[in-house]
Amino acid sequence: MTNESNSEKNQVTTEMKGEVEDDTCVLIENLKRQVETLQKSETKLGRQLKRLQDTVERDKAVALTRSNLDAVLTAEQRKQEKYMRLLLENSPDIILLFDKDGKFSYCTDAFLQIAGIPSFGLINGRPFQEVFKRFGDNAWIEELLVTFLDAMEKKNSISLEESVDFGSSGKARRYEIHFTPMTNETGNLEGAMMLLHDITDVERAREDAERASAAKSEFLANMSHEMRTPMNAIIGMTNIARSSSDIDKKDYCLVKIDDASNHLLGVINDILDMSKIEANKLDLSYTEFNFEKMLMKMANVINFRVDEKHQVFHVQIDKDIPRTIVCDEQRLSQVIANLLSNAVKFTPENGSITLTARKVSEENDDCVFQIEVTDTGIGITEEQKSRLFQSFAQADSSTSRKFGGTGLGLAISKRIVEMMNGSIWIESEVGKGSTFAFRFHALHGTSEQSESLLAPGINWDNVRVLVVDDSWEIREYFKDIAQRIGIACDIASGGIEACKYIEETGPYDIYFIDWKMPGMDGIELSRRINELGSNKSVIIMISATDWNLIEDKAREVGVSKFLPKPLFASAIADCINQCLGMEPGAFDGSEKQDVTDCFAGYKLMLVEDVEINREILISVLEPTALEIVCAENGVEAVEIFGAAPEDFDMVFMDVHMPEMDGYEATRLIRAMESEHAKEIPIVAMTANVFREDIEKCLASGMNDHVGKPLNFDEVMQKLWQYLPDKQKKTKKTQIKLSLHS
Ligand code: ADP
Repeated sequence: MTNESNSEKNQVTTEMKGEVEDDTCVLIENLKRQVETLQKSETKLGRQLKRLQDTVERDKAVALTRSNLDAVLTAEQRKQEKYMRLLLENSPDIILLFDKDGKFSYCTDAFLQIAGIPSFGLINGRPFQEVFKRFGDNAWIEELLVTFLDAMEKKNSISLEESVDFGSSGKARRYEIHFTPMTNETGNLEGAMMLLHDITDVERAREDAERASAAKSEFLANMSHEMRTPMNAIIGMTNIARSSSDIDKKDYCLVKIDDASNHLLGVINDILDMSKIEANKLDLSYTEFNFEKMLMKMANVINFRVDEKHQVFHVQIDKDIPRTIVCDEQRLSQVIANLLSNAVKFTPENGSITLTARKVSEENDDCVFQIEVTDTGIGITEEQKSRLFQSFAQADSSTSRKFGGTGLGLAISKRIVEMMNGSIWIESEVGKGSTFAFRFHALHGTSEQSESLLAPGINWDNVRVLVVDDSWEIREYFKDIAQRIGIACDIASGGIEACKYIEETGPYDIYFIDWKMPGMDGIELSRRINELGSNKSVIIMISATDWNLIEDKAREVGVSKFLPKPLFASAIADCINQCLGMEPGAFDGSEKQDVTDCFAGYKLMLVEDVEINREILISVLEPTALEIVCAENGVEAVEIFGAAPEDFDMVFMDVHMPEMDGYEATRLIRAMESEHAKEIPIVAMTANVFREDIEKCLASGMNDHVGKPLNFDEVMQKLWQYLPDKQKKTKKTQIKLSLHS
């Protein structure tokens, strides 16, 4: 091969090579582009795939969530339904569902039970008029239907109040009735719900509250009247007395002032007791006391008013009643006094009042007693009975205004009796009278029942006793008592019969003669008895009348003693003992105690900051010749007493005083060196009269307590109790006097 050809060849080859290289480049470029395109597609596809995968995952998650949600929802629904059912079935309200035609579609068990329907199946689909016709008349059903339709039409809840007797017990209850329309999801009416809410108790409570509030307002008005009336009398009578020079008129005014003051004191005591009860602070204080003597005290208090109204008052104590019992004497007396004073107040003139006491049961010394106070008064209606034991309630405010009173006595009595584990109740007929009875627990006292009331040393079988009384009840009761105390007696219903007995069997030793008898009265009979030669006999006049009124006439015809009615065994026995000169006896119906000079030689310290109180006590005690030294507060008392303790015999100590109160003064006196200071009787004289006040006085070292306003009999009784040795004292004074002379 030539060079030329070689070079040509080389040239061709080179050209070819260049072409190939160009093609290859293009090819590579293309390939690169394709690769790039492919790469881009892959990325896109990857993204699409990813998206697809995400979608699938999300769908899966959604599907899962949905199925979970469904499961949760059904459980929740089931729970809701369960709660709803629980709620409905236990609802105290009656819930009834009706379709839009008024037919039963549901009711709560409360309704089935109250209406006595054995199962819902019996009323399901029934029109409510058909079911309800058993519970009310047509007008009532019509009213319910109209309300139901109205609620449906207005698509609004409608309420009304009705009384319905679903239980057919004759006692309708008051319901608040709500008709509420029910609609479905699309707002179309499906029926209505009837909800009955029992408001009987709420209504009753509201009525009670309204009544209580009205009673309280009435009480305030009444109280104002009750307090202002006696105040008016006190102020008015004081003015009259001051401006009059007539001594009788002054006396008359004083009697009226005394009456009005006592009445006012009663009102104040009632109010204080009631506030104690309301504050739950009323306590009982148990002591042993003589049951019959307690009743005698009650009878003495009431006798005066019984006599004023010419009423007959009889007390009958069962022989089973122990001589002494353990109870709160003061509170028991308060209940009895309240019942007796009501009986007198609400019984017209010439009516009769009887108190009976009996033992109902006894177990291990725990006795149940029943006391009844029966009167022939105005009586109480059934409706009034239920209210009387509530505070401030009076049977009829107009009658009560006429008779006076606070309307608190029975409420207080009820509370006291309940505290004695007892109860109180009334039996009454309007116009015929009432019996107020109560039972209470008390312990049998320790005193011996068999102990004779009559003095020993006399053959009582030989003593002849005649009782003359026109009242059959009194004669029988006397006979019973006489038997109980161990004497035999004959009984006569009047003077003629008595004289006949004397003529037939000779004179008796003791006569008990009623003063007021038809035909021949007690005075006349006594004269006849003396004429019949009974001048060695003892004549005892029995009467509810004040002895002072008949004493002169009675003594003229030979009556030697007086026994007040009502009769009590111990009073009769004391009277007989006294008549036969055996012992002075506790009973003292006719003798008055002479207080003149009775405490001469004694020295008393009166510690009292209020001048008028000092003045009153000094004046009242003046006749007793007691020497009184005054201190105006505790500090002064301690100083005066400390200077000469032996000079004093007794202290009356006020409690509330400036500078130093009575408690502190007592403590300081008791702490003094002198033996006498530790022993001297210190008696509180204070207006703090509740049990805890008395206990506080005793705890500070005082011996006793008298309440203010002062009852002067009580003050005298304390003086007799703590200054009993008056003879010795008088001698001491005489010795002193002789030494000085
Ligand atoms: P007060 O007598 O002070 O009004 P009470 O609580 O003792 O208060 O009595 C309440 C009411 O009960 C009296 O107002 C009266 O209406 C009635 N009441 C009480 N006792 C009798 C009774 N023996 N006879 C008729 N009504 C009575």
